[in-house]
Amino acid sequence: MSERHAVVVGASIAGVTAARELRALGHRGAITMIGADPHGSYARPPLSKAVLKSSVADATLGYRFDVLDVISARSAAVAADLDRRTVVTADGDPISYDALIIASGAEARRIAAPGQRGELVLRTLDDARTLRPRLDTATSAIVVGAGFLGMEVASACVARGIPVTVVDVDPPLHTVLGSYLSGLISARAEKQGVRIVQTTEFATLVGDPVSGVALPSGEELTADLVVTCAGDVPNTSWLAGTALADHNGIPIDDACTTNVYAAGDVAYLRAAKKRAPFWSNAVAQAKVAAASALGLPPTGAPTDDYFWTEILGVPIKVIGPLPVLGAPTEIQAPSKPDPPCSPGVTMQAVQPS
Ligand SMILES: Cc1cc2nc3c(=O)[nH]c(=O)nc-3n(C[C@H](O)[C@H](O)[C@H](O)COP(=O)(O)OP(=O)(O)OC[C@H]3O[C@@H](n4cnc5c(N)ncnc54)[C@H](O)[C@@H]3O)c2cc1C
Repeated sequence: MSERHAVVVGASIAGVTAARELRALGHRGAITMIGADPHGSYARPPLSKAVLKSSVADATLGYRFDVLDVISARSAAVAADLDRRTVVTADGDPISYDALIIASGAEARRIAAPGQRGELVLRTLDDARTLRPRLDTATSAIVVGAGFLGMEVASACVARGIPVTVVDVDPPLHTVLGSYLSGLISARAEKQGVRIVQTTEFATLVGDPVSGVALPSGEELTADLVVTCAGDVPNTSWLAGTALADHNGIPIDDACTTNVYAAGDVAYLRAAKKRAPFWSNAVAQAKVAAASALGLPPTGAPTDDYFWTEILGVPIKVIGPLPVLGAPTEIQAPSKPDPPCSPGVTMQAVQPS
């Protein structure tokens, strides 16, 4: 394999890491990386943090891979033929491969009704650039979804002094961080003026263009700015007809194989039967997929139990499997023991064994 052609579909963290790892493991053949995003390869985590604050951050996002001698195809993959071992791009070019690594990630889950205009989501640099000026002028905001992304967007609203309501069926970050940390975050959010509305069923968007949400109680809330942060959907439509993906994404084993190789938000571990679409997992899986594509034993596990977010000025770092059960076993403060969730405190939650 070391002289042959590896094709990587997806040019974000999983795709770039896979290309880097192929070279690190001695692959001397061609690598083609096919990426659909017009802005190329860039980091997503800052999009909901530094990028919402200032355009200065835009210039710091790019992933560099110029030293890797990678052929970059800036066009979406639209089909794969596993028998002929080709990927076809929107440009119409069939690209042959000896090994295919799929790292096409995910897109934002949208909840607007068919034809309903004006739904705002946050997945890409373009999304962040659409949202940022809206934050400059909004006088009220609603965020649908109290996961880490929704709470980061709510944090951006608080930082700008915009009254914000967060709507979800679950308490903030409950599914990822568990009850204890979710309770701390809710208390902090409410103290900073965030209105948390916990519903019995999912809210729907109202207005065309979108101007608010309808709650299951029948109540309608309206705001200048409504942002949907309702999870993500794996980018697998281009694999139609290959039987590689199901509704969860591409099922992979511990070697990140299926009958090709896959990594990152597009994939889920068969054993766990669920996706874990976080940055560190994308890196871990890309490294494993690259090794497997070269016929080498995996260099590590296909998961990396590390997750971070930044809510209302507090960096939260979790080491260990999610969700976090119970209270963290250790709380680190930089100097004196401030109460949890006060500015500058880093909480390190370690999963009780
Ligand atoms: C706003 C935001 C903030 C986040 N913050 C955090 C955080 O704080 N901590 C954390 O752990 N995780 C965070 N994440 C999650 C993390 O960014 C993802 O887990 C990570 O980006 C997954 O990487 P990936 O390469 O698998 O997929 P993606 O980043 O989704 O990249 C997939 C790439 O494939 C391309 N692509 C898609 N379809 C095709 C196609 N058919 N042909 C060619 N290319 C295609 C896309 O354009 C994209 O460039 C955040 C995500 C978002 C959106």
